Amino acid sequence: MLKSSIVKEMYPLFINGEYVQSSSEETFPTYNPATGKPLAQIAKANREDVDQAVKAARLALEKGKWAKWPASRRAQILNRIAGIMRERFEELCELEVLNSGKSLSAAQGQVHQAIEDFELYAGACTTLSGQTKPVPNGFFHYTKKEPVGVCAQIIPWNYPLMMAAWKVAPALAAGCTIVLKPASLTPITAYVLADICHEAGVPSGVINVVTGSGADIGAYLTEHPGVDKVAFTGETNTGKDIMKNASATLKRITLELGGKSPNLVFADADLEGAVDGSLFGIFYNTGQSCEARSRLFVHESIYDSFIERFVEKTKKLRLGNPLQKTTQIGAIISAAQCDTIDSYVQSAIAEGARVLCGGKRPEGTDFQEGHWYEPTVIVDCHNQMKAAQEEIFGPVVMIMKFKEEQEAIQLANETEFGLAAAVWTQDFSRAHRVTEKLKAGVVMINTPFSAMPGLPFGGYKQSGFGRELAIESLDLYSETKSVLSFIGPKPLNPFGV
Ligand code: NAP
Ligand code: MG
Repeated sequence: MLKSSIVKEMYPLFINGEYVQSSSEETFPTYNPATGKPLAQIAKANREDVDQAVKAARLALEKGKWAKWPASRRAQILNRIAGIMRERFEELCELEVLNSGKSLSAAQGQVHQAIEDFELYAGACTTLSGQTKPVPNGFFHYTKKEPVGVCAQIIPWNYPLMMAAWKVAPALAAGCTIVLKPASLTPITAYVLADICHEAGVPSGVINVVTGSGADIGAYLTEHPGVDKVAFTGETNTGKDIMKNASATLKRITLELGGKSPNLVFADADLEGAVDGSLFGIFYNTGQSCEARSRLFVHESIYDSFIERFVEKTKKLRLGNPLQKTTQIGAIISAAQCDTIDSYVQSAIAEGARVLCGGKRPEGTDFQEGHWYEPTVIVDCHNQMKAAQEEIFGPVVMIMKFKEEQEAIQLANETEFGLAAAVWTQDFSRAHRVTEKLKAGVVMINTPFSAMPGLPFGGYKQSGFGRELAIESLDLYSETKSVLSFIGPKPLNPFGV
C-alpha cells in the first residue's frame, strides 16, 4: 500500500476562511491504520486557536450574511457543496480509506450518504418556518425559527466524513456557524469538507475546523462561553463529561453516543436473509460502528442451523487491503483499539464463553503491518458477561439463545444503551409487537440498514439524545421565538389605573 499523492503533507487549521498554523506551531501525525505508517502532519490547536475559531464563528453569526440570506440561497450553496463532493468523490473515498482503514466499499457508501445529507438539508432549508397560534381577539401571534448560534461539533473516528456531514449540513441549513473538531485519529476529510464548503460559497468564519486533543481543546469548546450549542458524537463516557462541562453555561447539547445493539432472530425468520443481514449488522465497518448489532439472540429451534451458516459465512469474509474493491473487512483504527477488542474477547473466554471463529489477529504477509482483527463469533455466553454489556467497537459478536418472545424483548432491553435494534421475522404482527417494546431509537425489521438520509437517527437511554440525519435535526439547530403583538384599536391598560 503506497501513500497516495492526494494526501497533503500538512493540514493546517481552517479559521475564518483561511488555512493557518496553530499559534504554537505544534503538529501531530495522523496514520494509515492499514499500514501503521504516518500519512500526514496535522496542526495541533491550543486554546488560543480555539478562541480565534470561536471568535470567527461568532462574528460570522452576528455580523455576517449567512443567517440573513434567504433560505433558498443557503439551499443553493448546500447543493453546490454536494455537487463538488460528487466531483471529488474518488478523492474523498480514497482519503477516508487511507486515514481510517475502512474498506473502499464502506467508504463509498458513507461518502455517498454524506453527499445526500447536504442535498437533504438543501431541500429542508426552505421548510424552516414558524407558525401562527390562535390568540384572543385583539392579539396577533407568530413563531419564528432563529439559528441556535455558534455550534461546536465534535465527531468520532469511525465515520469521519459522514459524521461531519451529519453535523455540518443541518447547522448550515439552520443558519448557524460552526467550529468543527474531528477526531485526532481521522482529521483529514474534515479539512477537505471545509475546503469544499469554502469553494461552494460558504462565507468566511461560518465553518472553522480545529484539530488537537479532545481532552484539551474538545473540553475547552464544551465550556467556552462563546459557544451556544455542542453537538457531539462519540463514547458515552465522553458524552457524560460534555454534559457536565456544558451545564455551566447551559449550552444546548445533542449527544449521539455508544451502543450495544441487539439483533433478534425469530424461528419464523427467512434463515438465509437473517444470516446475511446479521453478518452485515455486526461486521460492517469492521464492527466499528455505533449501531453494530453486537448481541445476536437466536430462537433455540434454529440456533444450531443459524450458527452453522453464520460461521461458514463469517469465514468467507474478505479481509485485506482496504483500497481493493473486493475487500469487505478493513483494518482496526489503532493498535490500542486492537488491544481493547482482544481484551474483551479474552474476558468472554475467561467467563466461560467459546470462540467459534476469529478471536485473534489475522496471520499472513498482508497483515504484518497495521492493525487487524479477525471477524469473531462467540457462543456459550450470556447477556450479563462484560463483553455482552460493554461496547467493544470491533468485529466481535456474542450469540445467545432465547425461547419466548417476551424473553427476547427482555434480553434485548437489558443494557444501558438504546441506539438500534434489529428484528428478523416473517410474522408482521410479531415484528411490530416486538418493535413497540424495544427501547431503541432505531429499529430495523428484516433489514440490516439503519441510517438513510431523511430518517431520524439517535438513541434512547445512555445512547444519548437528539436526532440527526432528518428534518427533526433542524429544530435542534434553531431557537423558537414566540412573538405576541397587540393589534387592538385602543392601547391596553392591564392595571386599569
Ligand atoms: P470519543 O473517544 O468519545 O471521541 C469523540 C470525539 O470527542 C473526538 O473528536 C475526541 O477527540 C473528542 N473528545 C475526547 N474527549 C473529549 C472531552 N473530554 N471533551 C470534548 N471532546 C472530547 O469517541 P471515539 O472513540 O472517537 O468514537 C467511538 C464512539 O463513537 C463509540 O462509542 C461509538 O458508539 C460512538 N458513535 C456514536 C454514533 C451515534 O450516532 N450514536 C455514531 C458514531 C460513533 P480526540 O480524538 O482528540 O480524542
Ligand atoms: Mg475513543
